[in-house]
Amino acid sequence: MADNKFDVIIIGAGPAGYICAIRAAQLGLKTACVDAFKGKDGKQALGGTCLNVGCIPSKALLDSSKQFWGLAHNLPTHGITVENAKVDMATFIGRKDKIVKQFTGGVAMLFKGVKGNPVTPFFGTGKLLKGNKVEVTGEDGAKQTLEAANVIIATGSVPIELPFAKFDGKRIIDNAGALDLTEVPKRLGVIGAGVIGLELGSVWKRMGAEVTVLEALPDFLGAADQDISKVAAREFKKQGLDIHLGAKVSKADVKKNAVEVTYSDKDGEHKISVDQLLVAVGRRAYTQGLLGDGTGVKTDDRGRIEVDEHCWTGVDGVWAIGDCVRGPMLAHKGEEEGVMVAELIAGKAGHVDYDVIPWVIYTEPEIAWAGKTEKQCKDAGIPYKTGNFPFAANGRAVAMNEPAGLVKVIAHAETDRILGVHMCGPVVSELIAEAVVAMEFKGSSEDLARIVHAHPTLSEVVHEAALSVEKRSLNKAN
Ligand code: FAD
Ligand code: NAD
Repeated sequence: MADNKFDVIIIGAGPAGYICAIRAAQLGLKTACVDAFKGKDGKQALGGTCLNVGCIPSKALLDSSKQFWGLAHNLPTHGITVENAKVDMATFIGRKDKIVKQFTGGVAMLFKGVKGNPVTPFFGTGKLLKGNKVEVTGEDGAKQTLEAANVIIATGSVPIELPFAKFDGKRIIDNAGALDLTEVPKRLGVIGAGVIGLELGSVWKRMGAEVTVLEALPDFLGAADQDISKVAAREFKKQGLDIHLGAKVSKADVKKNAVEVTYSDKDGEHKISVDQLLVAVGRRAYTQGLLGDGTGVKTDDRGRIEVDEHCWTGVDGVWAIGDCVRGPMLAHKGEEEGVMVAELIAGKAGHVDYDVIPWVIYTEPEIAWAGKTEKQCKDAGIPYKTGNFPFAANGRAVAMNEPAGLVKVIAHAETDRILGVHMCGPVVSELIAEAVVAMEFKGSSEDLARIVHAHPTLSEVVHEAALSVEKRSLNKAN
């Protein structure tokens, strides 16, 4: 096959694109992956938003900041005090950068490493042309055209910009800016109490910033089960995150050394002054300049590429996956779509169960869920029963000094099949996997209740919550 001809070309090397590329190559398909992302060193950095300015760097800073916060807020309860703790910002940010480099470099190695069939990376901006061709424009403007039987669009998403608060990278920042501050802001403003606002707001709160979060909606974390968001709101308040709900921001004026933010809520108009303003009001699919004339690929009213349940665009040999299509903007959702499409192209069965995609928010306490909330069951008229169990009654959680939160299990009232599992507490990002497995195997709350869970572990909270569905918890009054 000629050097510019492939079985599969993927545009975008985020988690959706690079995983798809690896799976396609594993299946023996000649695969190319085109990506335009540049790392801090100005070189191609594979891995997309997730590895460069999303999941991985945010978790690195969440962990570092948790260690720092713990010195004053956790260690003293263990009888340990540390005086004169200092933060070296260059090391704090540098550790994160090293982790990013390790993983973006890791993708390049994985591309080379597919046995006998490496993925060929191209550095440049890809444009889909009619007839399954991809034009790649390099940094120097040089163009080359690649061809393939199948093209997969995996161009991801970018932050939404507010017209009155344009990103300047200095005072008004997006996620990338908030992951690269050179000093801890005295006052950080955050617009949006969503996932990014809460995670990155927590990082800088723990490092000593005063953090004010302005959220337009009247309810806190509306996508989560209400029993969970209530507990989370209480814990965040205790930590000093100043969250204002129903706050409509109308202005953000950049002054010499600050940003003056105007917002109104039920009590009228307010102004706050902050050193930096993080705008985290959601992300939009990124398809700018992507589609050439006559490709036949359609976008919806939110600019997302239209696809069916198999991520097929309706145009022969053209697929789209990840953040640029419908569904939650989560790395693991995009990855599974990438695997599905590669397998379908190779003539295998490919499938994603969109009903059981776990969500995790990496705050303290962590929040995680899979399946339906109680409100969703109620609204859909599904008969259900619930059980829950608090971490405060779990030996391991108390020994860890992390007793806040609970696990809640929702099961069908008649069949007992698990409909949803909702968690807030220590390391629930890991505990949710048990719920996902149970749900994928169409398990019942009784199944979870009959499984032996090691003692003393946090997983016993899942066990007890499942027992509690039939009001037979053993370590709390029912
Ligand atoms: P992306 O990761 O956005 O990758 C798309 C790639 O395509 C980019 O490299 C882009 O430069 C490239 N590209 C775009 N257009 C072109 C073009 N025309 N030509 C060439 N290349 C192009 N999700 C989780 O599941 N867990 C988390 O903990 C988590 N944390 C996050 C934290 C933050 C701060 C942010 C911002 C996001 C987080 N997410 C998390 C979301 C996650 O990052 C995204 O869902 C995921 O990256 C989407 O993957 P993707 O491959 O679809 O797109
Ligand atoms: P989000 O959708 O999670 O939250 C945005 C919040 O901003 C919402 O609560 C919304 O009501 C609010 N908002 C919107 N416009 C507003 C306005 N004008 N004024 C005040 N509030 C406003 O979006 P995000 O936090 O930007 O994150 C984007 C996406 O990235 C997430 O939805 C998620 O898919 C992904 N992400 C995932 C993780 C994770 O999995 N742990 C972490 C970070 C990001």
